[in-house]
Amino acid sequence: MIRASFNLPSWKLSRFGSYLCILLGAFMQEPKIASKPKHIVLTSHPGRFASKPLRINWGKSDPLERGPVIGTLLNPAHRNVIGTHSGSYSVYRALSVASGALQASHRADLTNTAPIVAIGPHPSWSDPNRIVSLDPFGGLVGEAYASLYEQGYDIRPTIAVTKAHINMPELQDAVAKGRLSVDGQILKSNGSLVVTKVALDPVWYLPGIAQRLKVGESDLRRILFQQTGGMFPELVTRPDLQVFLPPIGGITVYLIGDVAAITDPNRLLAVRVHDECNGSDVFGSDICTCRPYLVHGLEVCVQTAQEGGAGIMVYSRKEGRALGEVTKFLVYNARKRQVGGDRADAYFNRTECVAGVQDMRFQELMPDVLHWLGITRIDRFVSMSDMKYNAIVNSGIEIVQRVAIPDELIPADAMVEIAAKQAAGYYTEKAVPNAVSLAEIKGRGLAD
Ligand SMILES: [Zn+2]
Repeated sequence: MIRASFNLPSWKLSRFGSYLCILLGAFMQEPKIASKPKHIVLTSHPGRFASKPLRINWGKSDPLERGPVIGTLLNPAHRNVIGTHSGSYSVYRALSVASGALQASHRADLTNTAPIVAIGPHPSWSDPNRIVSLDPFGGLVGEAYASLYEQGYDIRPTIAVTKAHINMPELQDAVAKGRLSVDGQILKSNGSLVVTKVALDPVWYLPGIAQRLKVGESDLRRILFQQTGGMFPELVTRPDLQVFLPPIGGITVYLIGDVAAITDPNRLLAVRVHDECNGSDVFGSDICTCRPYLVHGLEVCVQTAQEGGAGIMVYSRKEGRALGEVTKFLVYNARKRQVGGDRADAYFNRTECVAGVQDMRFQELMPDVLHWLGITRIDRFVSMSDMKYNAIVNSGIEIVQRVAIPDELIPADAMVEIAAKQAAGYYTEKAVPNAVSLAEIKGRGLAD
């Protein structure tokens, strides 16, 4: 059974999925007492169809008509999605249950967890093609599905909205150098920046994801099943379940200024869409421009908010162009050790040699969060990425002005990356490097 070919006809695949679910179900239900198997609940067993879960009608404007996203493990008959909540952290929850620290039956007490600031609903929420990778109602489940909670449904929020103060030394430096001014409301005198922050877990509407990637839904489901090592059999056994909670990282949005300004056509909006780079963002590695760009983006956001508009930083957990940090570090070594050392003209080649592609971020899905925020126009887009720019513009959002990073914020060793990107067509206000100049732009060696 384990060696079963994936070219099986669908009925065999279905049975294969059921067997697999029996095994998975055994682990899910009986983490500690393997010698005392109890009743096993199968999510892909035909018998489960007897109790119909609540339907999800993606793209409906009324949340009750749309239906809640239910990934609970407490009542399998209520589940109407593939996978479970918390993205990649669902695996840690499994470890907690396995170790005995967490009761599998624990039900979240959601008292006082509702969003601090109201966001939406916006017209984009009821467009089934506009948002396909998150649940627009994911933060409003407490009020939208109050009647279902009373009936015993365990509906988990996939979006949380809170407030915070953030303080970064570069912002204080910007104040000291006169690029930013303290206003006491948005930017405090101690250098703290007042933000509203939103965490969003991924919720994928599979027909919409397939359409966005221009592939057939059944092909997408089969390949997702195969490439996760058969982790989610329902991808191939339950075509009636159209929503998948993938075990991947989510998105954090930092809003600066008045939330109402985001959708006000008379007020300016600045946006940076930033993909995670732990090495630079957190630890200040100088091989790339990620943290300088992150901070520059925040600076433009603050300026725009202080002009009466709003600034938005979208932070996506797509480390190393979604290739992951291990691949990323392998590429760093390959770049530094190649003949001639780290060079701008070989920058993308080295990534492709190790990863097979230059990039796995699929910016086609990225604009969803902007549509969730109700954005229709971005006045200042702080990014040099053509992939991001094209994805946003092609999704129907107007971009008025692109803002490139000032030269003085680029670390010396990151010139390899930035020149390679400019030569590859990324946005720049300067002359694009040619083949000769590209070969001359070199980074530090591994021994330096
Ligand atoms: Zn980086």
